[in-house]
Amino acid sequence: MSETSTLGAVAPPPEPGSHLPVAEITEEGKLRCTRCGKDTYPRLIEPGYVVTHDLDLDALAEGRWEATGWDGSSKAVTECGDYLALECHEASCTATYRLPAGAELEWK
Ligand SMILES: [Zn+2]
Repeated sequence: MSETSTLGAVAPPPEPGSHLPVAEITEEGKLRCTRCGKDTYPRLIEPGYVVTHDLDLDALAEGRWEATGWDGSSKAVTECGDYLALECHEASCTATYRLPAGAELEWK
């Protein structure tokens, strides 16, 4: 007795960084880290990529996402970063988070 299965469909690959928790940003523009329990100014990182980006923390405190750094337009560097993430600034903590929904980064 044979049964036909419908389980042949392949699930789409998960979005890069979708395994990370979503960052919670306080009113002061700080990252509320659930791992170390502190509110720190987040670092903008790109896993898999060596260049760091400078997040404008003053803008973040006003609810805007602005950063300087590689914006993908330079041909001098290879495109090997996977996605953008926020990293806790505590020296002893390297928790990373996804940018919250609706955070549209503006490159300066
Ligand atoms: Zn932390």
